[in-house]
Amino acid sequence: MSIRPYRDIVRRKSRQVMVGPVPVGGGAPINVQTMTNTLTADAEATIAQIRRCEEAGVDIIRVSCPDEESTRALHKIVKASKVPIVADIHFHYKRALEAADAGAACLRINPGNIGSAERVREVVKAARDHGVSMRIGVNAGSLEKDLLEKYGQQLADACDYPLHIGVTEAGGLRTGTVKSSIGLGSLLWAGIGDTIRVSLSAEPEEEVRVGYEMLKALGLRHRGVNIISCPSCARQQYDVIRTVEALEKRVAHITTPMTVSVIGCVVNGPGEARETDIGFTGGGNDTHQVYIAGVPHHRLKDANVVDHLVELIEKKAAEIEAAKSKDSAEEADRHRTAAE
Ligand code: SF4
Repeated sequence: MSIRPYRDIVRRKSRQVMVGPVPVGGGAPINVQTMTNTLTADAEATIAQIRRCEEAGVDIIRVSCPDEESTRALHKIVKASKVPIVADIHFHYKRALEAADAGAACLRINPGNIGSAERVREVVKAARDHGVSMRIGVNAGSLEKDLLEKYGQQLADACDYPLHIGVTEAGGLRTGTVKSSIGLGSLLWAGIGDTIRVSLSAEPEEEVRVGYEMLKALGLRHRGVNIISCPSCARQQYDVIRTVEALEKRVAHITTPMTVSVIGCVVNGPGEARETDIGFTGGGNDTHQVYIAGVPHHRLKDANVVDHLVELIEKKAAEIEAAKSKDSAEEADRHRTAAE
């Protein structure tokens, strides 16, 4: 048990399913998904959007296939994408067959609108023949009332399939983020959810960023620099808000997980710094304090706080990455020796 047991999350046990090379469930990291909103038939625009999502760290991308032009373009999209593609199918089961043929890693269908049981069987057969996984997508809004009454709402207890969770129709960037954080956050905290999508009326890459922030906040997955900062007040010894705004932009490209505290004064600075990789606390007369691994390291008089912190963060990221490569090389050596 950790020193803050109320923060511990025990994840629901689920079986593992592969979406292309990405494992979902069975203890794998919780995946962050999004969905393109370009015309799928416009392969170039869709691929450009996928690139932006890849840069934001997306694990899996869903692409809707409403017509034959879309499934034709899917061949090109699948080839160009670095992450597996889920084909989103509604109403027309033939699109599912074409998408499996086009190399989709997963078919997302809603059995309620795909037609007869025979058609559903055909889709399942196509998925099996192509080694493609399937996602059964059900929105609360599309579930018949009698089904809800008969089966209730406890799917997580009734099966061990990995679950993809999201709050649909949540709203724009700000309101949607709040609603999704409450909805997804409560489920994730209860250990439910193997893959997530934060649905926002905003660009897909924003959904990915919010998804990661949510997982970071719950301590479920770490990617990039997690900045812990105070709201600032009259005690601040430098401009916390402007510093954090600039810092967030300057370190957005770093994918190495680490925590950095940026605190206005000694009221909370030393305490927060103790739990972070790099800490920064405002001090009087320009004697700001820098902490490394929780321990006071050096003072900073210079006003150029952002440049200095970026330099420290980049150096730390390089150290962490070098240690990781060394560990993997040693691990590979051990395997080689064991095999000989
Ligand atoms: S840490 Fe200091 S500057 Fe920041 S909000 Fe608290 S008292 Fe104000």
